[in-house]
Amino acid sequence: MNPFSYARVSTSAAAVDAAARETGSAYLAGGTTLIDLMQLEVVNPATLVDVSAVPLARIEALPGGGLRLGALARNSDVARHPAVLERYPVLSEAILSGASAQIRNMATTGGNLLQRTRCYYFRDVASPCNKRSPGTGCSAIGGYNRIHAVLGTSQNCIASFPGDMPVALAALDAVIRTRKPHGGERTIPIDAFYVSYGDDPARETVLEHGELITAVDLPAAGWLAHSHYLKVRDRASYEFALASAAVALDVQSGRVRQARIALGGVATKPWRAVEAEKALIGSAPGAAAFGAAAEAALHGARPQTHNGFKVELGKRTLTRALERVAAGGTA
Ligand code: SF4
Repeated sequence: MNPFSYARVSTSAAAVDAAARETGSAYLAGGTTLIDLMQLEVVNPATLVDVSAVPLARIEALPGGGLRLGALARNSDVARHPAVLERYPVLSEAILSGASAQIRNMATTGGNLLQRTRCYYFRDVASPCNKRSPGTGCSAIGGYNRIHAVLGTSQNCIASFPGDMPVALAALDAVIRTRKPHGGERTIPIDAFYVSYGDDPARETVLEHGELITAVDLPAAGWLAHSHYLKVRDRASYEFALASAAVALDVQSGRVRQARIALGGVATKPWRAVEAEKALIGSAPGAAAFGAAAEAALHGARPQTHNGFKVELGKRTLTRALERVAAGGTA
């Protein structure tokens, strides 16, 4: 591990000041990804700004009926919170499907949004990788790419997004709140938070250097209680998704009035499937409508040598998730 300096702060203002002063700084919260990557020398921050003592761990009701998750709220606390269990089951299920109990006790809401890919070549400093070392090439294109993405890829990177919680947050239309360096705050809809890889796969979000995630807001809509997260993976626990689906349905008088769909495991970022949602609106819940939505969701998929199975797996995962929500009760 490379040498680094360490600063512990107790306010978000002090955090952004400390991070903005140093171009090579990184925030440390739960540390469940960052420390691994530092040990592998995949990332080498010159300064760690430890924000774990900043008071951002509250989970609180919003005046309009939504819910605010503090950026430092632990994954296990969010997953077991009564309001999350009752009103956003998709979020609880997504969190509990990820990692291990020990990691969920450490990992934070803000950190979960910023997970790095599990691409083998990204984590192997001997391999060319445009995401880790821009301009060196992509070892996965033409290499072994079974776990890689089929949606949102570019000629420079095909890495899949590894997270579960952010996929649920995408389906919930969550809004990310931040504090910017040199003052000011902003709110970022999750659909605008992640950037497409394009020419620069090293850039994964719209966050500026030193910008600190302070909270994630969930909307008030009651029908989001009719939601589900389904994850398909190589083993039953402590494994990343090959395909996952976060879905919510608002069904009234036998017709889908509103739908939210996001996919994980198959895409380069939490993948909101807007065309699939449109395909469902006005239809009767059932095999025909769900099949059409699944086709729309994977339309445009671009498989590589070893991950072609993800196209069909993604469709089946989404179809099964929709079936479960439809069978579980309607608004
Ligand atoms: Fe690097 Fe992306 Fe290629 Fe993986 S897929 S080797 S992360 S550039």
